[in-house]
Amino acid sequence: MENVVIVGSGPAGLTAAIYCARANLNPMVIEGQQPGGQLTQTTDVENYPGFEDAINGYDLVMAMRKQAERMGTLFMMDQVSGCDFGGDVKRLSFATNGELLSRTVIIATGAIARYLGLPSEQALIGHGVSGCATCDGAFYRDQDVAVVGGGDTAMEDALYLSRIARTVTLIHRRREFRASKVMVERVLAAPNIRVVWDSTVAEVLDPQKKEVTAVVVQNIKTGERSEIPVSGLFIAIGHTPSTQPFRAAVTCDDAGYIVTQNTRTSADGVFAAGDVQDPIYRQAVTAAGTGCMAALEVERYLAAKG
Ligand code: NDP
Repeated sequence: MENVVIVGSGPAGLTAAIYCARANLNPMVIEGQQPGGQLTQTTDVENYPGFEDAINGYDLVMAMRKQAERMGTLFMMDQVSGCDFGGDVKRLSFATNGELLSRTVIIATGAIARYLGLPSEQALIGHGVSGCATCDGAFYRDQDVAVVGGGDTAMEDALYLSRIARTVTLIHRRREFRASKVMVERVLAAPNIRVVWDSTVAEVLDPQKKEVTAVVVQNIKTGERSEIPVSGLFIAIGHTPSTQPFRAAVTCDDAGYIVTQNTRTSADGVFAAGDVQDPIYRQAVTAAGTGCMAALEVERYLAAKG
């Protein structure tokens, strides 16, 4: 029987592992399809404290992994296929490695940024196409960028980028935003944000050059296509939390995010950290922070159980 199984190996899971290992809990981390999480998809990370110069996202998360391993964390590569959190003993089933029993579980499976699915967009992720304006916006100072989406994230991203970039083109597939009124008003009042309504991105240029040079936009009413020169494209069409195997076992909100209070979930002895329970901040540093919180909650829970 394990003391604690941590599902997910991004900054939240690895920080939880470092804390649990230092508390002699011998944590077991389950690494899924994308070991290291979303950070491994980014190139330069400039906003994680402690690094005067930018650090590569992959290098950062691998440093966390080595730190967790050196403290005594064990790692298993598999996918959770089911769980039973009903009793004092938590049961996790895996796609290939049978099952594990544990006294506690920390769910840190993250969220996946949604992309448009265009081959040219996929080819340029990390080379001018980004799913996180707060992470990558600073690389586009005084340049022209575009944002896709019409929700609060797209508004926030457009406003954030408008303070850095020269111009922001906001591309939305309808004539109306779904974002909150106050955010929409701010966007429409910003002098360097232009909205392209009723339009979708048909293609991102230029995969051959391995950099973004323009987006080809198509008006869905007229079918007309036009090219907008930009050096960065930010996709803000929502995130999908990776909660599928846990949805019946812990309370999730309508969008599928796990509902937590100080990282405690609705199931006793089960905790959640990082983007899987955070639709708003979604930063490596906040994920790491909640990973620490979850580990401290696990320690308290196990101490109380005796
Ligand atoms: P949303 O689901 O609210 O919005 C997604 C947007 O992307 C919609 O405008 C949608 O268009 C558009 N979209 C979806 N798929 C595609 C596609 N394939 N092609 C083009 N456009 C597409 O996601 P958000 O991330 O904006 O917000 C998620 C939740 O988090 C919301 O509840 C939001 O209010 C909240 N939030 C709150 C913040 C805050 O309070 N500060 C900040 C950020 C988010 P359409 O409208 O046509 O469906």
